[in-house]
Amino acid sequence: MALANKDSRILIVGGGGTIGSSTALHLARRGYKDVRLLDIFQNPSLNSAGNDNNKMAGDDSAGIWGQLGTEAWKIWTTDPVFKDHAHNTGRLDLTSKPEREERLRTRYQGIVDEGRGAGIEWVEGKEQIVARAPHLAHADLTGWKGLFVKNGGWVAARNALNSVGHELRRLGVKSSFGSSGTFKDLILGSDGKTVKGIRTVDATEWYCDLVVFAAGAWSPALLDLEGQCETKGWGYAHLRLTPEEAKKLKGMATTYNHELGFIMEPEEGTLELKIVNEFAGYTHLQKVRPFGLKKDVLMSVPRAHAIHPTDTITTESLEAIKNLIKLWLPDLVDRPLFKTAMCWCTDTVDMNWLMCEHPKYKGLVVATGDSGQTFKMFPVVGKQVADLIEGTLPEERKNLWRWRPGAGDNGTARGGEKAKDLSEVEGWRNDPVVVRSKL
Ligand code: FAD
Repeated sequence: MALANKDSRILIVGGGGTIGSSTALHLARRGYKDVRLLDIFQNPSLNSAGNDNNKMAGDDSAGIWGQLGTEAWKIWTTDPVFKDHAHNTGRLDLTSKPEREERLRTRYQGIVDEGRGAGIEWVEGKEQIVARAPHLAHADLTGWKGLFVKNGGWVAARNALNSVGHELRRLGVKSSFGSSGTFKDLILGSDGKTVKGIRTVDATEWYCDLVVFAAGAWSPALLDLEGQCETKGWGYAHLRLTPEEAKKLKGMATTYNHELGFIMEPEEGTLELKIVNEFAGYTHLQKVRPFGLKKDVLMSVPRAHAIHPTDTITTESLEAIKNLIKLWLPDLVDRPLFKTAMCWCTDTVDMNWLMCEHPKYKGLVVATGDSGQTFKMFPVVGKQVADLIEGTLPEERKNLWRWRPGAGDNGTARGGEKAKDLSEVEGWRNDPVVVRSKL
């Protein structure tokens, strides 16, 4: 059954971010006339996990995620809104650990069994890897093996978010940002169950027929999701290349190693090489009261770099990033790091989205649980939400992304160790900025 029609008033909380703006794009393209984005920041939202130079992307999975990945990469490389931002450099997904190798082999076999083997290769050992990634010629690749994905590489994330933002404005999608776009609570009808609108932090009341709740890593702290999502942060840093170094790395395959982290070609027009270390992520436990709960709970909430620009990343993340540079790009080992920041996602236990009607509130669709891998799906994630709204989302997908309480992430969804809390680790500083007046 459809949850809205083309004349319905639809509010998208988190509309400046990845899932929210993708949803707005699909609704607007389908002719929905009254869609409004609500967010703290204008698109491309400074808080969005997608507001970043670049992200890995590509057609690299089997099953439903494979269908989505294939469709997403096709749109990334053909749709005028996206295609200037996609770079088909190829993507390596490597490991030296047996558990991860098993996962990668299963994925490889799944893709081959679906008849899509031409787009993927199994690579093993230095010779095969360096043939696809000459930038690793001086790296220690002992025991490394995994996938080389031909239809993929990286996408210029912030630019893509910006491009969608422009398109939304062109299509007449409305927006409210700042205090009048910042969700505080739901306005319910007299039955206490039907959503009538949203109240923002400055007490603005927005009335509507349907709310799409896509507040990313903030979602579980704003709305009771019954423990299905756990928010975590990861650190990243950049180093500045010389024009000659950038030229040498031009077109390099995106390189991911599950134990170490990842790098990809610098975004066009910049000489900034981004490095992310891979691990279980950090929680940031705080007392909060999500809408729908009657008392405060201890829960991990983001501490956004856009709002706290003096925050640093932890010493262990910094060391892991330096180690990755030492192992992969030894010539750059002494290069200073800059633009270090934390980025926040919210994981489900099985890394599948939480995308469904909220069982307690009529007129509320939840679209979150990005699990750190949703940017590559930017062109198609909103299509799933739009299909859900129109009642055409296939049963199999509905089931995969259903409301599933009790399945909260125990911190090991990514096959790693349990996440530490930021309060337990060193180097993460959030000193206030002291402005000294001239005396
Ligand atoms: P976001 O894009 O973060 O959007 C959430 C929005 O909600 C924000 O705009 C925020 O301002 C808004 N919001 C918050 N509170 C409120 C409120 N009270 N009222 C209104 N709005 C609010 N994915 C990939 O596919 N490939 C990668 O290579 C990749 N690399 C990553 C690297 C790092 C370091 C990190 C942290 C993530 C990475 N990801 C990657 C994951 C990807 O960025 C996320 O999965 C995706 O961007 C999440 O989308 P989202 O819409 O759920 O959240």
